[in-house]
Amino acid sequence: MCCVAALARKRRFRHGRRWGAASPDSMARKSLMDLKSVIRTIPDYPKKGIMFRDITTLLTDARGFRRAVDELVQPLAGQKIDKVAGIEARGFILGGAIAHQLSVGFVPIRKKGKLPYKTIAESYELEYGVDEVEIHVDAVEKGDRILLVDDLIATGGTAGAAIKLLERAGGEVMLCSFVVDLPDLGGADKLRALGKKVTALVEYEGE
Ligand code: AMP
Repeated sequence: MCCVAALARKRRFRHGRRWGAASPDSMARKSLMDLKSVIRTIPDYPKKGIMFRDITTLLTDARGFRRAVDELVQPLAGQKIDKVAGIEARGFILGGAIAHQLSVGFVPIRKKGKLPYKTIAESYELEYGVDEVEIHVDAVEKGDRILLVDDLIATGGTAGAAIKLLERAGGEVMLCSFVVDLPDLGGADKLRALGKKVTALVEYEGE
């Protein structure tokens, strides 16, 4: 028996239940858990007036990380997805875990100049100036049904550019998933106005 199968068998035995089936007790524990309690807020970072919502504390919390991944894929139940695309950098961590869970490939959406092969790019406006996101020219196949993932949506500039990029490459963004939404900044509504489905696990007022 291979190592993974042996480990799965051992775990099944230890928990005395079918692999993957949640016990009522674990479900009760889950529903008691508030994801906000494992997201850290750092005031005035990276500049005065910004409340930085730091999800690294969620990632180090095993139950929080698992719960976030489970909840981010939940709206896709019964739908076919071909690829997960994650936005640099925290979207890589969440998107990689989700792609593994869904058994599909992962597309990194990177800031300008980081990818080694031929790329296509899309620019978007920042408060001061412009920025660009890129993917490899062959990362998406025509007709790919894509789940877009990032840690947080604020103004929607980054995610909006990512959607344009993935769709220019021939894909179709089926759902945009974020751990955090800052609704006062209007990004999620902007994506909905483009006809996209958007899901976020928690919301915070303000910036
Ligand atoms: P936006 O393009 O305005 O929607 O900004 C989203 C991107 O900026 C995401 O990749 C976030 O990681 C990052 N970001 C913007 N505002 C915050 C914030 N208050 N806390 C943490 N990350 C943020």
